[in-house]
Amino acid sequence: MKKHNFSAGPCILPQEVIQEASQAVLDFNNTGLSILEISHRSKDFVAVMEDARQLALELLGLEGKGYKALFLQGGASLEFLMVAYNLLEKKAAYLNTGTWSAKAIKEARLFGEVNVVASSEDKKFNFIPKGYMIPTDVDYFHCTSNNTIFGTQMKVFPSTPKPMVCDMSSDIFSRELDFSKFDLIYAGAQKNMGPAGTTLVIVKEDLLGKVTRQIPSMLDYKVHIEKDSMFNTPAVYPVYVSYLTLKWLKAQGGIKAIEEKNEKKAALLYSEIDINPLFKGYTATEDRSIMNATFNLTDESLKEDFETMLKEAGINGLNGHRSVGGYRASMYNALPLESVQVLVDVMSDLERKA
Ligand SMILES: *Cc1c(COP(=O)(O)O)cnc(C)c1O
Repeated sequence: MKKHNFSAGPCILPQEVIQEASQAVLDFNNTGLSILEISHRSKDFVAVMEDARQLALELLGLEGKGYKALFLQGGASLEFLMVAYNLLEKKAAYLNTGTWSAKAIKEARLFGEVNVVASSEDKKFNFIPKGYMIPTDVDYFHCTSNNTIFGTQMKVFPSTPKPMVCDMSSDIFSRELDFSKFDLIYAGAQKNMGPAGTTLVIVKEDLLGKVTRQIPSMLDYKVHIEKDSMFNTPAVYPVYVSYLTLKWLKAQGGIKAIEEKNEKKAALLYSEIDINPLFKGYTATEDRSIMNATFNLTDESLKEDFETMLKEAGINGLNGHRSVGGYRASMYNALPLESVQVLVDVMSDLERKA
């Protein structure tokens, strides 16, 4: 039986994409070769890479605005240091909203001064700080749009004349934003775009080439741009599956259409968390994420019953991150509303039985 997959990442992908991707493992585009054994320089794969890069910009509304899309490797974790390597000359401003922000800050400190403009660490990252000032003498401002582990999400972004860099790993392509406010966006594929193994980087070209340090080729965004994201062998299969997912998203009506579905899923689950006395949400209401909903039981003695019921209903991946505990329902683009309904039914059944 196919499970209801609430995994935080790697995460659920559209069933159609998995079908098509599995077919390409056997025979890619009727080439008589598997996607796993073709050259990344072959005409068919170069076309995939080019279309994927173009489609990413198109879906975000960034075509013809001076941006380039790259599919790199090393995960969002490598971007923590690549961003600083390429952009941090003296000082950068960072907003600390969770584990991933903190890791980005740690890496940036290897390259220059980091000014943490605000942090929610003292409240275990259960809210998004607001009303902070971004100094004018920084090279850029860095934030994390969605905190996958704690379940908070930035609903508004600060206005600053400084370049904005954003880790959108867990909510890219999930909601409409003015993406042109950002100068560099990065996202590991495995949260909302594809399988693990590639990272999407969207960068405004005029941001680059300003630091004085030497940058090793593999870590230099300019080198990857010059080589059309093929400086070295790209992650052929993860790029291909990401491409299929982006095509799927476009066929669904793009970000606007998927956002409406994501809002419905989140509203369904949060209203159950709010009305069911056996559950309480982890985060401040106004900051809760439409991608990752974190919650706890109010009575821990029901844990075994609840988890047995989840298992019987075919629900997978609901455990909270090991650093937070409790539960976390990740409701990425490909998760159907029906799966959320199954979860909500289990939660209300538990209340009826308790
Ligand atoms: C998962 C995640 C990361 C780390 O991604 P890797 O691809 O494992 O390096 C970074 N930032 C956010 C917001 C994430 O959710």
